Amino acid sequence: ENVITTRNVRLYYGKHEALHGIDLDFPKQEITALIGPSGSGKSTFLRCLNRMNDLVADVTITGSLKLDGKDIYRPQTDVVELRKRVGMVFQQPNPFPFSVFDNVAFGLRLAGMKDRATIKQRVETSLKQAAVWDEVKDKLTENALSFSGGQQQRICIARVLAVQPEIILMDEPTSALDPVSAGKIEDMLLDIKDKFTIAIVTHNMQQASRISDRTAFFLDGKLVESGPTKQLFLTP
Ligand code: ADP
Ligand code: ADP
Repeated sequence: ENVITTRNVRLYYGKHEALHGIDLDFPKQEITALIGPSGSGKSTFLRCLNRMNDLVADVTITGSLKLDGKDIYRPQTDVVELRKRVGMVFQQPNPFPFSVFDNVAFGLRLAGMKDRATIKQRVETSLKQAAVWDEVKDKLTENALSFSGGQQQRICIARVLAVQPEIILMDEPTSALDPVSAGKIEDMLLDIKDKFTIAIVTHNMQQASRISDRTAFFLDGKLVESGPTKQLFLTP
């Protein structure tokens, strides 16, 4: 079952065609790695999936992008609602200058959740899922920016998980981190993938082969190869 299906997706920055007709499916509860050289269109494609490219000047997108069978670019789409269903994690950890608790509660409060006990429960569950609970449980009122880069990134992941998205987009989420922190995030993604659907842009081939179920290889704005990671990497 595919959560997201894209067909013949083309994206133009002005007149420059950055995506040349991408057909890619994201199966439920699987991790799909997007790999390829710098400038090949991986981030551009990822940003189509939560309509973040709508916020970039002079962008034109054509083709079909469906979430649970419905086109996300049709006029009726509620983009705020879409971004709750399609969460995003960036390369640089970007916690707000608030406490750990308020960071993770952010999306819940934005959505109008008022019940304190429910918010508390969600915050705890999300921090556990993001494998950072043990490190922050006694410091929930401390500023998120006072933690290490790896901890900040896991707090940011908890902030995304708290709103219970269906799909999580990750744009090189570990490339600014040391190998130990990166490994923690890899292990965590393997632990949570049965509850979500994950698309991850990575330059790290070892990471792609270790954690992804499927790999999509981009080159010059084209999808040149995609399929089960085991087949593409021929892991012995
Ligand atoms: P990747 O993520 O694989 O490194 P990108 O999606 O960032 O690739 O870039 C794909 C192409 O689109 C590149 O040629 C890049 O220069 C161009 N590009 C990316 N963002 C913009 C933008 N905001 N305006 C114009 N061109 C862009
Ligand atoms: P239906 O086709 O089931 O009648 P509607 O088109 O009336 O659904 O959409 C119901 C609500 O869900 C609208 O607010 C719409 O913006 C939102 N919606 C529909 N499809 C999507 C989608 N793929 N992503 C985000 N929001 C969506």
